[in-house]
Amino acid sequence: MSVGVAILGSTGSIGCSTLQVLARQRERFRVAALTAHSNADLLERQAAEWKPAYVGLVNGESREQGAGSGASCLVEAATRADVAIVVNGIVGAAGLEATLAALRAGKRVALANKEALVMAGELVTRAAREGGGEIVPVDSEHSAVLQCITGRRPTELERLILTASGGPFRTWTPERVAGATVEEALRHPTWRMGKKITVDSATLVNKALEVIEAHFLFALPYPAVEVVVHPQSVVHAFVEFVDGSVLAQVGFPTMELPILYALTHPERVPDAGARRFDPVAAGSLTFEPVRPDLYPAYGLGRAAAVAGGTAPAAFNAANEVAVELFLEGRIRFGRIAETIARVLDAHRPGDAGSLAAVLATDAEARRLAREAACS
Ligand code: NDP
Ligand code: MG
Repeated sequence: MSVGVAILGSTGSIGCSTLQVLARQRERFRVAALTAHSNADLLERQAAEWKPAYVGLVNGESREQGAGSGASCLVEAATRADVAIVVNGIVGAAGLEATLAALRAGKRVALANKEALVMAGELVTRAAREGGGEIVPVDSEHSAVLQCITGRRPTELERLILTASGGPFRTWTPERVAGATVEEALRHPTWRMGKKITVDSATLVNKALEVIEAHFLFALPYPAVEVVVHPQSVVHAFVEFVDGSVLAQVGFPTMELPILYALTHPERVPDAGARRFDPVAAGSLTFEPVRPDLYPAYGLGRAAAVAGGTAPAAFNAANEVAVELFLEGRIRFGRIAETIARVLDAHRPGDAGSLAAVLATDAEARRLAREAACS
């Protein structure tokens, strides 16, 4: 019997990579549901190939028979009886409610949508505990950590070092970075991804989000989650154990491997897809500290993490708005960090234990960010 998989955000970078992985694993997995936001054409082509029992298009009417629409189609897809694993490849806060619903329904969530875990880490981990669901990271650094710690006890874990490519501006001066164009920000040196996460990699906001993601996934205090710049993106993370031993997971950058592992964890299955590792082809591997002057938004994210409560939700919302405005050409690159700083300055962190509080923070931070960005 094959395992039913729902792919939320099937038309995106993670969604398409997931289908590529599944094309090689047809005897193990079956696509039970697909959802997209507005790309009806690609969704239709995917549905024709994979014949899922359910298709959902958030914004618009799908021509598929029995298709769902509106934001509620995400929860519908994520909680179906014929779905055991939900791959959440939605970008941004819009992915939160489907993750909560899937975990409450006892599903495995293969989570790429890190924003939801950042804004509502307490709620998401609680939903998993209470509903019997399981969060398995798709993010390559967190997949690397999971692969290193599987089979170990939590008390044996001491410290994580997540790697960051440093993005396209690693060798630039801060003054030049502040005026970088959209095209320059989207030129990621090692990964091909959606636009939002590509900009987040240039500001290093992505790594701040990942520090918060790691805190919630692996129940570690923030000082135990470090970051190092590693331009080659070959080592995905280091894990230090209490005896001082360090394990790392390595490979050429591809999301297909972490996606497959999220589907099969703790097992591994044969896969002919990913380019096999070759140390000579990988060449020299280098590591550098994060330069705070080059990546001001990274420090803001770490500060919001330590402040806790609703502060990470405010950080995430401010960033989502600022990145959108940057991509629309309405603010300069340097304004992204400035906008986040202004929103966090105005935010008084409260308790993040209820969905209402998290959503209220999200809405207020978005309003403040629009005001701050354009004034
Ligand atoms: P993309 O922009 O490529 O894809 C986003 C997907 O989400 C699309 O299918 C899009 O539909 C859908 N979507 C967008 N907005 C909404 C909404 N409001 N409601 C429902 N669906 C929506 O992003 P990525 O695939 O690059 O990233 C997805 C997530 O995975 C992000 O959280 C990112 O941080 C994370 N991630 C991505 C990696 C990568 O390699 N790409 C690596 C690690 C993490 P449509 O096409 O119709 O607009
Ligand atoms: Mg990552």
